[in-house]
Amino acid sequence: MNLKTNLKSMNRQRVIVVSNRLPVSLKRGGTLWHSRATAGGLATAMHPILRGSDGIWIGWSGDTSTATDESREAILEEWKTKHRYFAVDLDPETAQGFYEGIANQALWPLFHHFPSLLRFEPEHWLAYVRANEIFRDEILKHVQEDDLVWIHDYHFLLLPQMLRKARPDISIGFFLHVPFPSSSVFRIIPKREELLQGMLGADYLGFHTYRYLQHFRTSILRLLGLTSQMDHVELGKRIVRLDALPIGIAPHQFTDLLTKGAGTRNQLAEIRQRFGYCKILLGVDRLDYTKGIPERLRAYRKFLQDYPEWHGKVVLIQVAVPSRERVPRYSRLRREVDELIGEINGDWSTPNWSPITYLRRNLPQAELAALYASADVALVTPLRDGLNLVAKEYVACKSSGDGVLVLSEFAGAAAEMGEALLVNPYDEESLSSTILRALTLNETEKRQRMMALYKRVHKNNVFAWGDRFIKNLTTAVLTRSEQPHNEPLLLEKAQLVSAFNKAQSRLIMLDYDGTLAPFAPLPQTAVPSQNLINLLERLVEDEHSTVALISGRSRADLERWFAGIPNLWIAAEHGAILWSPISRTWEQPHRDASHEWKKCVFPILEHFVDRTPGSFIEEKEFSLVWHYRMADPEFGDWLANDLVANLDHMLAESPVKAVKGQKTVEVKSLWANKGQVYSRLMLVDAAPEFIMAAGDDVTDEDLFARLPESAWTIHVGRNESRAKYYLSNNDEMVALLAQLLEPDDTTTVENSNLLTSSEHALAAKI
Ligand code: UDP
Repeated sequence: MNLKTNLKSMNRQRVIVVSNRLPVSLKRGGTLWHSRATAGGLATAMHPILRGSDGIWIGWSGDTSTATDESREAILEEWKTKHRYFAVDLDPETAQGFYEGIANQALWPLFHHFPSLLRFEPEHWLAYVRANEIFRDEILKHVQEDDLVWIHDYHFLLLPQMLRKARPDISIGFFLHVPFPSSSVFRIIPKREELLQGMLGADYLGFHTYRYLQHFRTSILRLLGLTSQMDHVELGKRIVRLDALPIGIAPHQFTDLLTKGAGTRNQLAEIRQRFGYCKILLGVDRLDYTKGIPERLRAYRKFLQDYPEWHGKVVLIQVAVPSRERVPRYSRLRREVDELIGEINGDWSTPNWSPITYLRRNLPQAELAALYASADVALVTPLRDGLNLVAKEYVACKSSGDGVLVLSEFAGAAAEMGEALLVNPYDEESLSSTILRALTLNETEKRQRMMALYKRVHKNNVFAWGDRFIKNLTTAVLTRSEQPHNEPLLLEKAQLVSAFNKAQSRLIMLDYDGTLAPFAPLPQTAVPSQNLINLLERLVEDEHSTVALISGRSRADLERWFAGIPNLWIAAEHGAILWSPISRTWEQPHRDASHEWKKCVFPILEHFVDRTPGSFIEEKEFSLVWHYRMADPEFGDWLANDLVANLDHMLAESPVKAVKGQKTVEVKSLWANKGQVYSRLMLVDAAPEFIMAAGDDVTDEDLFARLPESAWTIHVGRNESRAKYYLSNNDEMVALLAQLLEPDDTTTVENSNLLTSSEHALAAKI
């Protein structure tokens, strides 16, 4: 599909929403099952998008009954036909490991910065993988070309990549509704690389805040070695767009209840009558340890201790919705909150006044709206929260500007609600004094702050959020589809060996570091193994094969290690000089190459060495390299980007370029590239039947780009590349060379005729 057609169909692409739960749930009443709508922010956001695109919603049915039951089946069928909701069933073991295990006891605590609560069981992990696979298979049943798949949240971190592998062509967006933790916390979780790779399967990744996005970028850098820009990561030919896109609410739902909802208006009047004598502080949370309820209660207790003049004049209404009660940490929290409230009310209540009114249940929106509207101060003080919708809902109910929002600086919402009174929820003293400040804020300041928040909450609503996500996903895919998608496939070694054996002439081009040998902290210590030398010696014995080592290394290193291997072509410094085994000389394609530029570049690199402990400069004949493998990876990468940017600018007019490699920045002449070595080798044999090239670095991409479609191009490592195939590591690559040398049962006698013709050809063409 071309760009124009894509633009035209942009708004009509069908959306497939994938989330852990559907906006409906099953409830058993006696022997029969019933369906219940479960209103939530996500449903409000998704409905217009689904309606507008004729989309579908896939989610877990939420119950694990395995016995077939007619009334249950009938409900699931009705969900499909009436609402286009497709329920996925999970068996009890999978559901337990996936939902209660990894999602709620590993990812939830860790992503909310509670590493000490992390519980990671290997069998839970298997269930998490299985559940993601089950969802993948359900999506695959429905997905059509041009659909947009929008996956929600931490339950499905592996799903984008699983889907991408099954259907490289489809458009995948992922939004994380919880925080992304700092990389030092994220790295604690086992399977961290798999989780990051899983997310990177998406075309577009959305987070609530730039801070989370930044944490994600640091994590992929530190754990996967992937550098990124603020808004994207390049994975070979594929680009993953990154964005900060805080979710909003549907403010009209609350304003409508307040203006037109009879029930809400009655409740509002009742609350005013009951608490008319005092100011209302309001807390509305799920009973979750991330919400900071005990910390808030302790700060309120301190407030009552420090400011006794407020006794009888203030009340805290705390709504707490029971949650995840089967997880022990949650039942402990429930007891803790019960006890604290009991203590505070026991210590301070009078016959006419109780400091806390505790509602431990889920209130309908109509009741919440009345509470929001009547509260003088909302205490939204989570210890960590992806965003926090309550903060926005409270603001939406304050059209008159008469209210104060006290907001934790650790809630994602703080990034866009700067007019709130921001607090550190762990700081009891400061939270207590902020309560006083909120209660006594002068009217002008109160209204100014609240009205600024009110306008923003109405403008950046959930519909704008949903539209923006879909628009950005569509744009991300448009830019992607401009380039043909090409992820390397795992090399089937047997197929390559067979092609190698059948061919009557062959060209084999191999990079060294990272391809045939692992990286060492110091380049000079990455000495080739005897096994590798033996393999190369045997490979070059075959007169039908031209074998070339094409490396970025200096001539000195390569000569020291490989010059003893007869018939081996050796390209040093990315092809700036080439050892010909025929003329037995080093050929230099650009004899008059100037090295003047080194004088200006060297001091700059020295400056970077001074700033970066563990880094050093390597001077080669035609290039200068800044190595930072031993430096702190994040700092090193950050400086490397800075260095490349500076040099790019400085060298813009010269034939020299700075290239970021594997923990290196190399400054080299433009003409010295591996692609041009191939051109030179074509003079040896212009039409080899079998061409193979293997490399791991960005400089090898120049070679892959130059080769004909029929060539076997192999990228060593799992990063994306323009190569057709990949092998996981250099050991695999060396094993492949060994396989090429194994006796071939299919070799025919006629092939031996070629020996002399190829020999002649070789000599004639030099
Ligand atoms: N909520 C509700 N009834 C209640 C308490 C809360 O419906 O009794 C809703 C509230 O309106 C909000 C959501 O629960 O939309 C809580 O969202 P938030 O982002 O604050 O926290 P989460 O529970 O998602 O961590």
